[in-house]
Amino acid sequence: FGGIVKESPLHIIHIAVEMAPIAKVGGLGDVVTSLSRAVQDLSHNVDIILPKYDCLNLSNVKDFNFHKSYFWGGTEIKVWHGKVEGLSVYFLEPQNGFFWVGCVYGRNNDAERFGFFCHAALEFLLQSGFHPDIIHCHDWSSAPVAWLFKENYAHYGLSKAQVVFTIHNLEFGAHFIAKAMKYSDKATTVSPTYSREIAGHPAVAPNLHKFHGIINGIDPDIWDPYNDNFIPVPYTSENVVEGKRAAKQALQERLGLKQADLPLVGIITRLTHQKGIHLIKHAIWRTLERGGQVVLLGSAPDHRIQNDFQNLANQLHSSHSDHARLCLSYDEPLSHLIYAGADFILVPSIFEPCGLTQLTAMRYGSIPVVRKTGGLYDTVFDVDHDKDRAQTQGLEPNGFSFDGADAGGVDYALNRAISAWYDGRDLFNSLCKRVMEQDWSWNRPALDYLELYHAARKAAS
Ligand code: ADP
Repeated sequence: FGGIVKESPLHIIHIAVEMAPIAKVGGLGDVVTSLSRAVQDLSHNVDIILPKYDCLNLSNVKDFNFHKSYFWGGTEIKVWHGKVEGLSVYFLEPQNGFFWVGCVYGRNNDAERFGFFCHAALEFLLQSGFHPDIIHCHDWSSAPVAWLFKENYAHYGLSKAQVVFTIHNLEFGAHFIAKAMKYSDKATTVSPTYSREIAGHPAVAPNLHKFHGIINGIDPDIWDPYNDNFIPVPYTSENVVEGKRAAKQALQERLGLKQADLPLVGIITRLTHQKGIHLIKHAIWRTLERGGQVVLLGSAPDHRIQNDFQNLANQLHSSHSDHARLCLSYDEPLSHLIYAGADFILVPSIFEPCGLTQLTAMRYGSIPVVRKTGGLYDTVFDVDHDKDRAQTQGLEPNGFSFDGADAGGVDYALNRAISAWYDGRDLFNSLCKRVMEQDWSWNRPALDYLELYHAARKAAS
């Protein structure tokens, strides 16, 4: 890739509806921020265009200023500018109140609001005289950028730009995604295995010639156990045992769990069907049976699932109050303490385009226990079964995994994981050290994206 990186810097503009940490709902928000930072670190120019939600956490925006205002779509649109994690962000605030609704998603006119945002973003680029090389849009929510650009803007002043579209999750808005797949110059999804899993989907199948699976990374500065305000003792792989012991104690204390040296399974997730709810429940009971502790941090967009877990929490907090805690909320600081304080992070997803929790787990020296699907398959290599497959990636095995989507599957991986903890702490600790030393950052994948950006431009010229 060396030659490519030396070519002149590209100007890349992301148009997205999530961005960590100010407007994050799931992995999409993490990826917009961390991919942009990695590409910017390679000396390219990156801007992000985001709706100005009334629920933005502005304390994380530096140099926040009014930039300009313009009229489009029957309303005035105020544009604000600021820096988030060192990235330049333009915030669009239509005065029709589309983003004054207290949340990112969950209104019954989400498609209309985001469609308006996409169009307004392209209009802003045109009216402000931007000439980006790449416009990168994400999932159904900014999919309209792809066709609005080709139909309305490609011929009027923004002609240089190529459109790259990334599928973070095909489950939502497949018909938007199908159209963006058709109109974009290049398309990606977030792991090689997920790209194969969805290759036959009618939204994807006609576009395989321009479709690539590139694994997500995590930002090692944003997720850094050596520099993390939410954990008690900074640590690297050199003092992982000491650092994790202190974090486990702090976690137990904070949640009122028994202060003891027990295997601790952490689960950090949106509680939806995708994430394997029945497997999560089963794993909680199995862990308790094996004398371990369980901490679940999760929130459910569906109130029936939220109620269901609230009932389970009530039951567990009375029958196993020393060993189980279910925190049914979204809590970024607590997530850091769980990543650090857990021995295992369980990710039993039914499907998982990439998954970031298993990568963050490893960064904090926690061992992933996962179902073999999508990006989980590409990043977790079973200590008992995947030595050869790991070696093809230049890696040592780093976790426990299972097939199937039933209780027997989870048991198979979880029982081996917990036994490994009980059977030999030195061996287990060396596994923690090993996973911390693996590189799950954007170092490699950012180069793959740059190659793709360049390929998009070459194809056009
Ligand atoms: P998805 O995008 O499908 O939700 P990912 O694994 O790609 O799944 O990303 C999930 C991200 O959201 C991770 O950064 C994870 O730490 C975070 N997360 C999920 N649930 C919670 C929660 N309840 N509190 C805090 N962070 C959470």
